[in-house]
Amino acid sequence: MRIYKGRILSFENPSSPREYRYMTVDDNGRIVALSDERPHVGGKLVDYSGSVILPGFIDTHIHLPQLRERAMISDSLLEWLERYIFPAEKRFADPEFAREVSHEFFSSLLRNGTTTAVVFSSSHREATEIAFEEAMKSGIRAVIGQVLMDMNGPEELLTTPEKAVKDIKAVASNWHGFDGRLFYAVTPRFAVSCTMELMRTAAEIAREMGLYVQTHLSEQIGEIEEVMRLFPEAQSYTDVYLKTGLLGERTIVAHAIHLSDRERKILAEAGTKIAHCPSSNFFLHSGVMDLKAHERAGLTVSIGSDVGAGPFLSMLEVLRDAYYANMMSPFKAFHLLTMGGARALGMEDRIGSLEVGKEADFVIIDPEPLAGADDDPSVLLSRLMILGDERNISATYVRGRRLAG
Ligand SMILES: [Zn+2]
Repeated sequence: MRIYKGRILSFENPSSPREYRYMTVDDNGRIVALSDERPHVGGKLVDYSGSVILPGFIDTHIHLPQLRERAMISDSLLEWLERYIFPAEKRFADPEFAREVSHEFFSSLLRNGTTTAVVFSSSHREATEIAFEEAMKSGIRAVIGQVLMDMNGPEELLTTPEKAVKDIKAVASNWHGFDGRLFYAVTPRFAVSCTMELMRTAAEIAREMGLYVQTHLSEQIGEIEEVMRLFPEAQSYTDVYLKTGLLGERTIVAHAIHLSDRERKILAEAGTKIAHCPSSNFFLHSGVMDLKAHERAGLTVSIGSDVGAGPFLSMLEVLRDAYYANMMSPFKAFHLLTMGGARALGMEDRIGSLEVGKEADFVIIDPEPLAGADDDPSVLLSRLMILGDERNISATYVRGRRLAG
């Protein structure tokens, strides 16, 4: 048993945080008590007085093979993919390189306070296996999937529906549900690089095996025009995914910027979740997601870094851009980052907040280096999300284990 002392904040409610002084975590990494007074139980006191303790950050959209491809300025999404990203992803055919970057990727995430990440791997089965191995070793929670493309990309990165099914079965049967911490996501890159047949096959195998699905939706106007040219029978970009069966409660779509109300309704009815990636959207000049319209439609919104189009691994920096994209209180921003992420994964009964019975994923924040401490939680959190970054993270815990710092 361990008792953590500090300024503990949790964001179950988007309009006001809960605050405590002590958090007791049992040897299985579960939170057993939260209180203002020191609890009368035996256990080692871990004193973080002067620090802030927040729920672990959940990044619901990030690309592992793009870790070293950040900040590549380009004219458009499609040009950026061809010029920088596809060549970078080809390098993951080399297992040694894949291991080196995977190791760096998960340790960097933990250093930044990210305790759960939803990850696109490359198009390679072996590199995806390696990503799972490195995620396992790091102790992080992750949902990972091998990227699927069968058109409009370089030959080396293309698959076929048959090969895709084989790859998914092989990797998912090893890793989906591992230690309750690692999960598989079927990962068609986006409609521009997938035939109907590939997307249908992907949706089917995901349903059969109970896997997550992740993809991109309506990021840029040029991309949407391309999708409508490729699938002229579809009524909209969202309709392409609906027809292929890819939309469901375990599906996360990134961006979802240029949507009609009808598309929002389709997504909400399917229970599909949104990964809002504001830093990426500003970087590629994709547009600004309308948070209010999404919430009016009943959609669950979470936050993604979208590294490498997004330049920042630090979710504090991504929250700053979320605020620039849509006016919101700091409580709301941290609520989307933590509870929103947990809901996107259907894991809100296990992670996403510091509550009795949940698993103890948390981040120790030193408010001083950039942001500065303040008694008023709204001022403290505003400074953290507008000025904060990796330098404010002094330790990261997953399931009660200290993994960074
Ligand atoms: Zn992305």
